[in-house]
Amino acid sequence: MTDLDLTTRLRSFDYPTWRAHVEATGGCAQPVRLRGSSTISTTSGRVLAERTGEVWAPCGNRRETVCPACSDRYAANAFHLIRAGLAGGDKGVPTTVTQRPRLFLTLTAPSFGPVHSRRLSTRGRVIPCPCGTHHRDGDPHVGTPLDPDTYDYTGSVLWQAHAGKLWHRFTITLRRTLAAGLGLSAREFASRARLSYAKVAEYQRRGLVHFHAAIRLDGPNGPTDPPPSGATHELLIDAARQAARSVLLEVARPDAEPLALTWGAQVDVRRISATTAAEVTDERGEITDQRLAGYIAKYATKGTGKTDQHPDRPIRSLAHLDHLRLHPHHRRIIETAWHLGGLDDYAELNLRKWAHMLGFRGHFLTKSRRYSTTFRAIHHDQRIWRLAEQLDELGHDPAADPVIVVNNWHLVGIGHRDETDRELAIAHAERIREQRTTRRTT
Ligand SMILES: [Zn+2]
Ligand SMILES: [Zn+2]
Repeated sequence: MTDLDLTTRLRSFDYPTWRAHVEATGGCAQPVRLRGSSTISTTSGRVLAERTGEVWAPCGNRRETVCPACSDRYAANAFHLIRAGLAGGDKGVPTTVTQRPRLFLTLTAPSFGPVHSRRLSTRGRVIPCPCGTHHRDGDPHVGTPLDPDTYDYTGSVLWQAHAGKLWHRFTITLRRTLAAGLGLSAREFASRARLSYAKVAEYQRRGLVHFHAAIRLDGPNGPTDPPPSGATHELLIDAARQAARSVLLEVARPDAEPLALTWGAQVDVRRISATTAAEVTDERGEITDQRLAGYIAKYATKGTGKTDQHPDRPIRSLAHLDHLRLHPHHRRIIETAWHLGGLDDYAELNLRKWAHMLGFRGHFLTKSRRYSTTFRAIHHDQRIWRLAEQLDELGHDPAADPVIVVNNWHLVGIGHRDETDRELAIAHAERIREQRTTRRTT
């Protein structure tokens, strides 16, 4: 955007309308533009408010690199959702959940060959990588194979494609291990306890995901119900470690050679403590629920890493990759996924559809049903709140006289008219973010 572009834009006749649209979406980078009308009327038919013309809705994209404004909002909602399950105080989740056995777990991917690394000695010095280099922080080579020709791309893609299934196996094993620890059968465990969790997938520089999960042990009815006696933090932590080590999924390589899929050796399990007063960290290596909710929310807005130089949508052919600035390591993962996706044996993995996500087929943030609230409920509450605010401005009391909202919008287009508009919108989102940060720190 040049100064000339900007000046022209600010002087254009439709600038005030445009600015109002941008503000309504919080500076969305690719707004959904709709045309039509919306009417709020009472049940007796009296029209309270009417709106016609064009409205913009935020794109709602989760990824920071795609839309900073919407990813900010997503992170805020994710934070709310995660925090509600840890600290309670939300609908259906009492604050007594802070007394439940709770833990924060990180499950990693196993090794598929040596990679460039940047590790620090106990004195804080950079240990040289096996390639002989002292990699600096942020070096794009870190996490990529030392020898791409011997790195097990096939194994890594098959692992990633099964990561969701491996997680599912982990939760089953964890329930069984807990049951055994409590001296219960699997059936008895189900009638006396319930495991709830929220988890996020985070891509590492290797292009493989880690799972970070907050896990809570309740009674059979979820957050309102206490767990059975004997269900302690220690029991939950030991069971999680044991379950993570024992999960095994056997699949076959393209040459029929068996491939055993497991979690990586690095399993991090921490007890979650309740946030008290101004406390942020804990010297015992525990993690506070407030801080944890922040971490998890932030992970959920990240893409595949490597400065996100990966395609946004499924690719249609390998030739498509020539138009993208891809790191050679990511390119090779995508090519492997595409190749495997063409084999009958892996048809059900649908790998061509997920090649652009490096073979990961799952959702970024998932939670068990009774963990806490849902994104849908949060969005619903936000819509109701905005409507209540609007009715309040109109001086109308919906309790005395209920209202009906009729929306009739159709899609005009998605995105800004040009790059200048897009950059101006992103700058607007950036200002909102700065103001919020300033308010929080002063
Ligand atoms: Zn957006
Ligand atoms: Zn190296």
